[in-house]
Amino acid sequence: MVKATQRPALDSLPITKFKGVGAAVAEKLAALGLHNVQDVLFHLPFRYQDRTKLAKVGTLRPGSEAVISVEVVMADVVIRKRRSLMVRVTDGTGSLMLRFFHFSQKQVKQFAPGTRLQCFGEVRRGPSMLEMVHPEYRLQTQGTALEDSLTPFYPTTEGVQQPTLRKLTDQALSLLSEHALVDWIPDDQLAQSNMPDLASALRMVHRPTQGSDVEALMSGMHPAHRRLALEELIAHRLGLRLLRVQAQRNQAPVIPATSELAGQLQASLSFKLTGAQQKVLSEVLSNMETGEPMLRLVQGDVGAGKTIVAALAAAHVVSAGYQVALMAPTEILAEQHLLNFSEWFDPLGVNVGWLSGKLGVAKRRDAIESVAMGHQRIVVGTHALFQNDVVFENLGLAIIDEQHRFGVHQRMALRNKGASEAKGTTEAKLPHQLIMTATPIPRTLAMTAYADLDCSIIDELPPGRKPVKTVAIESARRGEVVAGVEKAIVAGSQVYWVCTLIEESESLQAEAAEDAVAMLTELLPDRQVGLVHGRMKSREKDTIMQQFKARELDALVATTVIEVGVDVPNASLMIIENAERLGLSQLHQLRGRVGRGSTQSSCVLLYQAPLSQNAKERISIMRKTNDGFVIAQKDLDIRGAGEVLGTRQTGLAEFRIAELGRDNDMLDTVSDISDYLLANMPVNVKGLIRRWIGEERKDYGGV
Ligand code: ADP
Ligand code: MG
Repeated sequence: MVKATQRPALDSLPITKFKGVGAAVAEKLAALGLHNVQDVLFHLPFRYQDRTKLAKVGTLRPGSEAVISVEVVMADVVIRKRRSLMVRVTDGTGSLMLRFFHFSQKQVKQFAPGTRLQCFGEVRRGPSMLEMVHPEYRLQTQGTALEDSLTPFYPTTEGVQQPTLRKLTDQALSLLSEHALVDWIPDDQLAQSNMPDLASALRMVHRPTQGSDVEALMSGMHPAHRRLALEELIAHRLGLRLLRVQAQRNQAPVIPATSELAGQLQASLSFKLTGAQQKVLSEVLSNMETGEPMLRLVQGDVGAGKTIVAALAAAHVVSAGYQVALMAPTEILAEQHLLNFSEWFDPLGVNVGWLSGKLGVAKRRDAIESVAMGHQRIVVGTHALFQNDVVFENLGLAIIDEQHRFGVHQRMALRNKGASEAKGTTEAKLPHQLIMTATPIPRTLAMTAYADLDCSIIDELPPGRKPVKTVAIESARRGEVVAGVEKAIVAGSQVYWVCTLIEESESLQAEAAEDAVAMLTELLPDRQVGLVHGRMKSREKDTIMQQFKARELDALVATTVIEVGVDVPNASLMIIENAERLGLSQLHQLRGRVGRGSTQSSCVLLYQAPLSQNAKERISIMRKTNDGFVIAQKDLDIRGAGEVLGTRQTGLAEFRIAELGRDNDMLDTVSDISDYLLANMPVNVKGLIRRWIGEERKDYGGV
């Protein structure tokens, strides 16, 4: 094992040591995060081209890249929309068209019938046959050239192209044998993994050797990839863990776990907390009692009752003399919270404030002032709560609902909000943080993506909930569905009719929703039908929602704005139009709006035939289960981790080589090794973070 105290040679060799790298190039490379030799070694190819073997034209598929050896059948300059040179070629197994939009007269002459060519390019479907557009090609008289190994492709930046990066990695790899590269992961931790050592893994990934497993390399499943992906995942987990350690060095308000106010709130409820709610509340309370900032993620399926847990936590914080911020990702969800919190806290004499982006200038100024003065003890709002001019008198707890829409960075921004004067001292304190999500995250994924947070799970629904019955019906039969709507209304229920469109265009969605209102009003003339969509003013939306809640409306036509947070227990039927276009988690969120009361609820997934294989699978999963965790796992299998977590927002999408979905099976090992390193090898922890995350990402545990 390399001693960790030894100076890591390669990261102290500046990049200017390389041939061809002067100050100007070095500056461009810095934009890619490349400062020293080690950085170059860890600038990894994100894909390969296989130019190692010839493919038969007859076996080509659209979307693949291939090298072919062919003979020109005919070449022709055609002028349709654009002037283009079309060269039809064959190798005896099939024909293919080469298409050039930019070409010289010399090229036209070059492609005389019978000329032999070797071409490389991406195969596409053309109007009459497969095509390659602007392939790389060479005349066979210049000799055939197949590569010995896969051709790597690196992330580039302006002024730094593939050839430069290939030359740099060549040089860096040659230094790899002269200089030691510190392997920060002790051998014994990897004993059973069957993975190559670090240097061999790097060599293989940069310059795959002849005869190595091409398929494994192309799919990122080669042991060399796995070795590096493991290390990268470990580095990211360590980054998040350190972030947490840093946060916990700060002080947070000490919140006593007994509160008269919370007792009063609980006594005022018409229901008893479930065991799961009680358990999670006590986890929260024992965190906040310590004076260390709480960083806790509460997962609970839709309808599990996260809000009241948050409200009770808020009551404790208010009792202790601190303010609470509750933030939601959409206006409509924030309004729902405002409603609930006001209903709960107004009778107890606690002032609940409101801060959203849509407040007018004057109202906003007033709101900000009363937050700063501390007149409002609980403030509910949207992203507007993040803004710089929002200063709290003494923020003690920040509650973020539906976390999957907020990212790691926003988490940080809010964390810093509370750094206000604590009562009686001048010392800055961080607020406690409670993050709630209804998108269950498979455990192993959570350990990596949310390694800076503790997790609590409300794994029990309030009593009396019956699983929603789900059926799928073709759109053509919507007449029958409308009859079902009438029946439900006659039985005393209310109905959601959800319109979705593939385009994220709110105006088109709104139009579709208006059509649905017209259709329902015509077919059900005696019924009250309301409409909410994203383009309405929030006051209008509010009024409609209130009417629906008060049972003044029988049916509510809505766009996906009701996805989160709407709570009307008397609604027991939901129709979702174009259900085939929605992802699993979105369907699950929508469906969670029914099944909240004591009557049996149903959900009708209307779809347009024919269904793709994927859509069939989604719909069948929805019909089979109501369990959010099962659905989340399936969603992960189908879509991959990036999309499930919301790529942008996790900060984790910027992996160089790892992929949470593909490398899912390693995540247990990742947390074991990271925890071992954190406990025993602080120098290695720093080394790994510096190597993979770099100096710049201080916000992400970078050192
Ligand atoms: P979510 O976890 O999806 O945010 P909510 O907090 O909106 O769920 O709760 C859903 C509904 O369940 C609300 O109407 C709430 O009042 C109700 N509820 C919460 N806890 C209980 C409980 N222990 N018993 C009965 N109903 C409950
Ligand atoms: Mg909720």
